[in-house]
Amino acid sequence: MKEIIKKFAIFFLFLAIIAFIFSFFGTDSEESNEISIATLIQEINSDEVAKIEVQGNVLDITLKNEEHQTSKKETGEPLSDLLKNYDVSAEKIAAMDINVGEEANSGMLWTTILPFLIPGLFIIALIWFMMRQVQGVNNRAMTFGQSGAKVADRQKQKFTFNDVAGAKEAKEDLFEIVEFLKHPQKFIAIGAKIPKGVLLLGAPGTGKTLLARAVSGEAKGPFFHISGSEFVEMFVGVGASRVRDLFKKAKKSAPCIIFIDEIDAVGRQRGAGLGGSHDEREQTLNQILVEMDGFDNQTNIIVLAATNRPDVLDPALLRPGRFDRQVVIDLPDMKDRAAILGIHAKDKPLAKNVDLKVVAQRTPGFSGADLANLLNEAAIMTARDNKKIIEEETVLNAIERVLLGRERKSHILSEKEKKITAYHEAGHALVAHMLPNADPVHKVSIIARGRAAGYTISLPREDKKMQSYSDFIDSMAVLLGGYAAEKIFFGEVTTGASNDLKKITNLARQIVTQFGMDEKLGPRTFGQKEEMVFLGKEIHERRDYSEKTAEAIDQEISNYVGQALKTATKTISEEKDKMEKIVQMLIDKETIEKEAFEKLMS
Ligand code: ADP
Ligand code: MG
Ligand code: ZN
Repeated sequence: MKEIIKKFAIFFLFLAIIAFIFSFFGTDSEESNEISIATLIQEINSDEVAKIEVQGNVLDITLKNEEHQTSKKETGEPLSDLLKNYDVSAEKIAAMDINVGEEANSGMLWTTILPFLIPGLFIIALIWFMMRQVQGVNNRAMTFGQSGAKVADRQKQKFTFNDVAGAKEAKEDLFEIVEFLKHPQKFIAIGAKIPKGVLLLGAPGTGKTLLARAVSGEAKGPFFHISGSEFVEMFVGVGASRVRDLFKKAKKSAPCIIFIDEIDAVGRQRGAGLGGSHDEREQTLNQILVEMDGFDNQTNIIVLAATNRPDVLDPALLRPGRFDRQVVIDLPDMKDRAAILGIHAKDKPLAKNVDLKVVAQRTPGFSGADLANLLNEAAIMTARDNKKIIEEETVLNAIERVLLGRERKSHILSEKEKKITAYHEAGHALVAHMLPNADPVHKVSIIARGRAAGYTISLPREDKKMQSYSDFIDSMAVLLGGYAAEKIFFGEVTTGASNDLKKITNLARQIVTQFGMDEKLGPRTFGQKEEMVFLGKEIHERRDYSEKTAEAIDQEISNYVGQALKTATKTISEEKDKMEKIVQMLIDKETIEKEAFEKLMS
């Protein structure tokens, strides 16, 4: 819009200049004695005029007595007409020497044409502008249906499987895909069907996109990359035509890979009615299915797709002949975490004493993306302190920063608050230490981090893929350790415990409704949640149980919480001197590391 206004402004300026110049020409008259037309007629009638030169609308009159005069006539009216109108006789006209100047003629032409020409030009320009504007929109509308898929530039695409640490099984599965693309004949010759679609499943940040890029790097073939959300636009029907366009392009450059990232954006169960505009999604999804069904055995296109919500995917996508291969990428275990850290530490100057194994040990549940972020945070902290080498301390500090938010040393607690926080955290730590199935304490601190006033980190001795009922029972007691300590030592609780209460309620609910661990309610699930397996957000819960059961569930949750509070209170009351020791040390030093804590307890 600004552009147009600017163009018009220039145009008007131009017009103004022309008008200015012409106005100059108009008033450009000599200072000679100017006479009126009436006087001129009189002079003619009395035979005084010898010669008249016409220059535009200026008449240059030479009298018989050699005197020069000028006069002006109307523009566009020939002098002869003028004289006739004044009833000057033909002989009188013939007696005079009348010259019509050449330039006068062209000048007149301009002055007559310009008034029409300029508005004309103006209108033409206006129309042109508008046409261009409309065309612009049209052009864009024409490209709406195009996929906009990015064909990876192979020069830049230097990713290989070596850039992906861990994920061994996933890499093996994908290596097969690379083989298919490189040597399709080998497989066709013995009648093997090449898989059409491969679905990468895994929590966010586990390296799905990274793996897909590595596949493209390994296969060295064209690689079409599009994100599911790019199919869905303002205009209905765009998604489907984009899919069509994408597959058309891909077929031209087969053998190749199409990678649809975040396919859940279009591949949600049809008719689920979540998040509006599902008509559009359905059409897009249908088109994907149609295109994939259209492949024959000779089409060497493999569709890779990635999602962290396999639970919401339409079953039609998972049917054989479509995304029948599913590659699950788990969160990395300790060994893989060390390997991922190794990859990301390559371009960072780490101090000699930084042991990536220790870092891996302290980061259970971190995804590849979290680990990359962790080392990046450490590098940022190092640069900010104007240091050249990343120290171990910085890396360990970065773990907590990624986990809990940054330290807020300026968040100064009053003496009273500091004391309450110390007792609260000591409560968590003590219960965690005393209960056999709780994870051992790794660090206790009363330095505020993120939104917490203090924190206690307990880490499992080894990576756990499964958790048992007794693990949960003890963790619930640990969660209430802070609450119990405040209650015992101050007689009341503060808002500091609210986050713990949320966590324990959730955990208790899961025990009852998801894990089937409750004696009373038995081995079944309650409510159909659209998630759990992969860290998606809860969207809604469909109730598949009666009102009476709902009451029973509530009752059981309360029982678990009550039981946990009893355990925590008992543990703390029995070990009051250990409590005091922890509290004293926290108030003195603010932070207790694992070794110091264990020494204190023994
Ligand atoms: P998503 O699974 O959500 O698509 P990405 O593939 O985008 O995750 O991973 C995000 C980042 O995390 C990657 O760019 C990479 O830096 C890091 N990362 C994740 N997994 C790995 C891994 N296995 N090896 C190395 N880096 C990884
Ligand atoms: Mg991704
Ligand atoms: Zn707490």
